[in-house]
Amino acid sequence: CFCQVTGNLDDCACDVETIDAFNNDQLFPKLQKLLESDYFRFYKVNLDKPCPFWTDNSQCGMSSCAVQPCSPNEVPEGIKSSNHKYSADANTQDDDCEKLEHLGAVDASLSEKTREALQNWNLHDDESERFCVIDDVESPDAQYVDLLLNPERFTGYKGPAAWRIWNSIYEENCFKPFTVRRPVYPQVFHSGQGKDAPAFYRWLDGQCVEKRAFYRLISGLHSSINIHLSARYLMDDNWFHKKWSHNVSEFQQRFDSELTAGEGPKRLRNLYFLYLIELRALAKALPFFQRSSFQLYTGQPRKDQAHKELLLEVLRLADTFPLHFNENSLFAGKEKEAGKLKEDIRLSFKNISRIMDCVGCFKCRLWGKLQTQGLGTALKVLFSRRQIEDLTKPNVPRPAFQLNRQEIVSIFNAFGRISTSIKELKNFRSMLADFR
Ligand code: FAD
Repeated sequence: CFCQVTGNLDDCACDVETIDAFNNDQLFPKLQKLLESDYFRFYKVNLDKPCPFWTDNSQCGMSSCAVQPCSPNEVPEGIKSSNHKYSADANTQDDDCEKLEHLGAVDASLSEKTREALQNWNLHDDESERFCVIDDVESPDAQYVDLLLNPERFTGYKGPAAWRIWNSIYEENCFKPFTVRRPVYPQVFHSGQGKDAPAFYRWLDGQCVEKRAFYRLISGLHSSINIHLSARYLMDDNWFHKKWSHNVSEFQQRFDSELTAGEGPKRLRNLYFLYLIELRALAKALPFFQRSSFQLYTGQPRKDQAHKELLLEVLRLADTFPLHFNENSLFAGKEKEAGKLKEDIRLSFKNISRIMDCVGCFKCRLWGKLQTQGLGTALKVLFSRRQIEDLTKPNVPRPAFQLNRQEIVSIFNAFGRISTSIKELKNFRSMLADFR
């Protein structure tokens, strides 16, 4: 039931124990080690993009919201020079494209042939398959950030500014111009008591399986962020010392108290749902990473090879998980309607990635952007079944399926966040047991 989102979403018994044991004992330690490697710790991001939706966007001045970008000599040369170059295939394609882009920049009156080639480049750029907006990493405002030095944790970002973001994100769930009576969710918000939750769930249950799945992904991401801020809460803050650790009552208030009016367990189940989706996407992407031309290129050949082997170990393990989500249950209706639905969801998700540029706290914006990009990449993988199958066939000269470095770094780090949340849940469960 967990793995096939059909019927009533909330009467499923989650096989939490299987996921906990698989994640906490097997996958989590390997994944953490991988994410500490140079390839995965440096992420290029533009945190200065203006909010496209409203102009009165204030930025928080709290020190815990600050992001420390890398100085140029901190980032390995191989990463800086390769940027999107991650495999021999893509290198050739990128070189062609760079030449063409350069041509386009110096000569406005391009020949028919060059224009056609540029159009092909746009096709290769697979924008139409993307579920999120990707930052222009060539922009002078884009900077490398060391994710290990800027961890996701409590920042103090809250109140109307944070609610406005969450509210806008959930509004995307209404798939405008699809007309749904929308007041339900904002009221859940403003009361904070969830008194309208039954009406909301009645509405949600009436939606098709894809829209319910979409809601659960967003809600799962929301749970994960709130688990992280509770697990790395600022417990002691003075001139000499800052201490970040578990805040059990913060966690309890958010997931296990009267305040949530019974919503807490559902929100945690949504976290497990998100885990299954991203896990499945990684397992599906295995053939892409297995190709001999794929490298985790940082310019340090021995380390790069060792990290590629570790990456494959993680993905093979992901592939062995016994309760995989069956993505074939999504968009399985009549071809035309399924296509329209997929496009609606893709555009809604793209809008969510744009909303991240409106988050007023830079640290929250960094991790929000990375995690929506990672989830968008997971959806791109899940819905590229045919192109990924082509990767395993001989004689397909230039595979249509590609992931660039930004997508690779974001999907693994996003999954790393969810995997850490699952692990932290176990810690909180045992702390709560001691508490009682
Ligand atoms: P909020 O978490 O703001 O939630 C608002 C309302 O949404 C709740 O009242 C409830 O009705 C509903 N809700 C809550 N959880 C769920 C769920 N899982 N599913 C469905 N509905 C739900 N703060 C940090 O300290 N560190 C961070 O790194 C951080 N990153 C953030 C990233 C983003 C993109 C955003 C928008 C916010 C981030 N925040 C971060 C802020 C944090 O998520 C909360 O908004 C803040 O702590 C205030 O919490 P709250 O109790 O008012 O409820």
